[in-house]
Amino acid sequence: MIKVNNLSKEFHEQGTRNELLAVDHVDFTIQDGSFCALVGESGSGKSTLAQLMCGLLAPSSGEVLFEGKNIALCRGKQKQVLRSKIQLILQDGKGAMDPRFTVYQIIAEPIRNFRKLTKKKEEREINDLLTMMELPEEIKLRKAHELSGGQQKRVCIARALAAQPDVLIFDEAVSGLDVLVRKHILDLLKRLHQERKMTCFFITHDLDIALYLADRVMVMRCGKIIEDRTFHGSTDCFTHPYTKLLLHSIAPYLGQTIQ
Ligand code: ADP
Repeated sequence: MIKVNNLSKEFHEQGTRNELLAVDHVDFTIQDGSFCALVGESGSGKSTLAQLMCGLLAPSSGEVLFEGKNIALCRGKQKQVLRSKIQLILQDGKGAMDPRFTVYQIIAEPIRNFRKLTKKKEEREINDLLTMMELPEEIKLRKAHELSGGQQKRVCIARALAAQPDVLIFDEAVSGLDVLVRKHILDLLKRLHQERKMTCFFITHDLDIALYLADRVMVMRCGKIIEDRTFHGSTDCFTHPYTKLLLHSIAPYLGQTIQ
């Protein structure tokens, strides 16, 4: 379980003396095995929140608790374990992979860092992950720049899974992909969530993707969570005028954009 308590993050605005509250006193709890989506326009504070939730950024105030432990206060081995348990998958798949490494080496990295399997078990696990991600085995010897955008994304997810995480956080992870590739990846995530009972937190500026994937949708605006609803297929649950505006803008596509 992840518990976010009265969490804020302030930045200094570049070139001015102004402070900017990117995340503004946010509270929520993510239950194990849930699939949550966080929706908001660019600059609303989503990525900052994701980085706070993984311990990559320290909060200005408030806390993020993972299994009862304050992420920002973890040090040494505890921090390393925590990093492996909450994996962040970013939009830029290629940029997130070392260009010198082959796909095999990229996926093997978390196994070697966190798990210390024998060579044989490591190889079997990497083959299983490639199968799960619907990637051909021959891809193992290729490097990131030799892969398509969709393949890069699948390799990033395989690498995250190799660390055996409890939580996957996706930050605009399917932005920039072709519609069909995106649909394949989204369906793969749904399957992964169902089969592995993995906790997923999916950040997107597309409300239609959030509705397609998640059973809970949070809406962020100007650093605040302005709406947080369990979603059972009907958009009637959303009441905030801003969410209604977002819904209105996708109304012509609802139910058919990614079918
Ligand atoms: P989103 O992911 O919703 O696009 P971000 O979390 O990236 O939003 O950014 C929220 C706000 O915080 C933006 O105004 C952005 O310019 C600002 N911001 C993000 N990171 C930094 C930083 N390292 N230094 C200063 N301002 C930042």
